[in-house]
Amino acid sequence: MLNIDGDVGEGGGQIVRSSLALAMCLDRPFRITRIRARRERPGLQAQHLAAVSAAASVSQAHVEGAYKGSQELLFKPRKVIAGDYHFAIGTAGSTSLVLQTVLPALILADRESNLLLEGGTHNPLAPPFDFLKHAFLPLLNRMGPAVTATLERPGFAPEGGGRVRVHIKPVAHLQALELPERGDIVQQRAEVLLAHLPEHIANRELAVIRDALSFPESKLNFRVDNTANGPGNAVSIIVESAFVTECFTAFGQRRLPAERVAESVVREVRRYLQAGVPVGRYLADQLLLPLALAGEGMFVTLQPSSHVITNMAVVKKFMQAEFASEKIDEDAWRISLS
Ligand code: ATP
Repeated sequence: MLNIDGDVGEGGGQIVRSSLALAMCLDRPFRITRIRARRERPGLQAQHLAAVSAAASVSQAHVEGAYKGSQELLFKPRKVIAGDYHFAIGTAGSTSLVLQTVLPALILADRESNLLLEGGTHNPLAPPFDFLKHAFLPLLNRMGPAVTATLERPGFAPEGGGRVRVHIKPVAHLQALELPERGDIVQQRAEVLLAHLPEHIANRELAVIRDALSFPESKLNFRVDNTANGPGNAVSIIVESAFVTECFTAFGQRRLPAERVAESVVREVRRYLQAGVPVGRYLADQLLLPLALAGEGMFVTLQPSSHVITNMAVVKKFMQAEFASEKIDEDAWRISLS
């Protein structure tokens, strides 16, 4: 039985999700202890339990310790069954984090799957739907599978109620992904999503982006979607380059002026552009599992975050694969499987 210490590195929910994903793909049971031990509310919370329960349904797993606040979990997958699944995460729990958990197993399954995920689609501290659609999934698809995601209704914290449908056409083996450079910029655009909030918010955000990044009017878009259960505002900037598309998102918050929201996403975009790397900090931690499962691959990114370092450690526990990270420039690191 593989024993995982949940308190290493980032020590957060990511160790749990990555362990579940690898356990399902590799048919390796594991026990994890000290789950989120140093967090304010330690142990498994609703968001993490939703990931455990989704992983358990997809892999027919035997599970012990899956309750709120639990700091220990045993997970024994039996068999990954692809097919149709409905994961209702409850309130605004992130649909993307549940998808992140089950997707690796389903892209390597023996038949197609259709997922309906209900919960939050635009949560701070989780991959926003736009990031999945524009940045993560196109790269994953380059490795062989065909995964499409459709946003039926946005879900913002705290009301949630968003709906995402995902269609997954698997492959027998993932191909390696090599992303040494970004290539020339093909286009950049801003997309503001607004629900149950006045339109001047979007206009003020787009004005900041126009002035800071010199985007023409045609690249400044906004969309009102009042099908959401509650108010919400997401500002995304999509940077499409010759070899990769990145997507950066910030969220409107009560008492945070719209200008500050737009400025924070502009800062991220500037940092990415100045570094000249293809892969931004969030994409970096999320590409590690697919690369490890492919058995080869590399990318160049910003200085590895604690999430990157943690995922590398989890991969090393489950597989023989070990990632190497090497500083190649002031703001550029090469991550590769050795
Ligand atoms: P905990 O509450 O224990 O800290 P968690 O389960 O809420 O953990 P994290 O472990 O922090 O979540 O993992 C968050 C995941 O969301 C990471 O994979 C990170 O790359 C991704 N993520 C966070 N913000 C963004 C963003 N703006 N764009 C894309 N991905 C993001």
